[in-house]
Amino acid sequence: MSIFEHKGDRKNLRLLTEVPQRVVKECASAPAKWIFPNGPDCVSSCIACADEPCRKIGESEQSVPGIDALAGDLSSVLCPVNAIGWDATLETPKIDPDTCIGCGLCVARCPVGAISVLEGIATVATDQSQESTPRTKTMPLSAGQLEQQDQIAELPTLESAEPIAKDIGVVGVTEVLENSSEAVQKAAVRSLLVAAGGSVSLSRKGDVHTRMDGTYATKGGALGSLEVEFGFDSLEALRASLDDVAVLESRYGIPIADQVPLVVCGGLPRERQGYWQVVLDIDRVLELKIRTATAGAMLLLVWNRKPFTAQVLDQLTPHFGSTSIRSQIEAALGRPVDIPRGLGGILEPEK
Ligand code: SF4
Ligand code: SF4
Repeated sequence: MSIFEHKGDRKNLRLLTEVPQRVVKECASAPAKWIFPNGPDCVSSCIACADEPCRKIGESEQSVPGIDALAGDLSSVLCPVNAIGWDATLETPKIDPDTCIGCGLCVARCPVGAISVLEGIATVATDQSQESTPRTKTMPLSAGQLEQQDQIAELPTLESAEPIAKDIGVVGVTEVLENSSEAVQKAAVRSLLVAAGGSVSLSRKGDVHTRMDGTYATKGGALGSLEVEFGFDSLEALRASLDDVAVLESRYGIPIADQVPLVVCGGLPRERQGYWQVVLDIDRVLELKIRTATAGAMLLLVWNRKPFTAQVLDQLTPHFGSTSIRSQIEAALGRPVDIPRGLGGILEPEK
């Protein structure tokens, strides 16, 4: 029996009839379970949040403190491959299985655990998903976005028994991104940082005034320029970071000492590329620590619902003595990572 009641148009938002005591996702490949103190449990399904965090990046998530004057890309699409549309009949997001790459970013953003990844493809649970199972009970509300947002804010934090997907899955997602266009790679890194609790302003396409890929801020206050480099031209990312630092101090008044330039790559640069030596040279001469992360390492944080904080960022810096970031990521996750050493350059360079 379905107890999901909403049917209507987009003007009618949904309100939960009762806020659960706990929201628990016991299995990565199934929707969460809602547990009420005195009633039957029910299976989560999309409650059609007005701000649709599974589909959209909010304005505040595109705003980097002190750098708002920099003209940013105004796209608010969260899915890096634009696989999430809208089902006008059900009034819920709808994922195109042929386009989805299973990155799990939409899953991490859903406050009610309604999206799951099964065999590398995400699906949204709706009242139509399993007719025989009691599902989230809601009622239509005419207007009143704030009321709905207040109620969602009251929901208990989603408890997850399992990560969104297996660790090894980040290798496949990284490979897909490495074979994607630069625009998709940048969009993916922006969405990754946002899903990990940060904010990002990507530069507008064709911006010749700054040339930086974007700016970012993490939870805990680290901020600076963002360079995205999935190819082999990692040294170019360092040169660009130096330009970015100058632009941010000279034109936007962010002192160099307050900046943490970040390079996000697919695989960590190999030793023979000279990247790590130049990172060290820059630090010795300019006292500027350029941080390096892989998209896969950030994905591991998101899949385990850990934020990418200033502290984690600092620990990720793999340049003084070691180019591995395995122990740092394992410390952030609180467990070993199940990815073979060197594979994909996710946690240590391939060679
Ligand atoms: S899992 Fe990733 S690729 Fe698939 S719909 Fe969600 S955000 Fe898009
Ligand atoms: S899938 Fe989740 S985040 Fe997206 S609209 Fe539905 S409830 Fe909100």
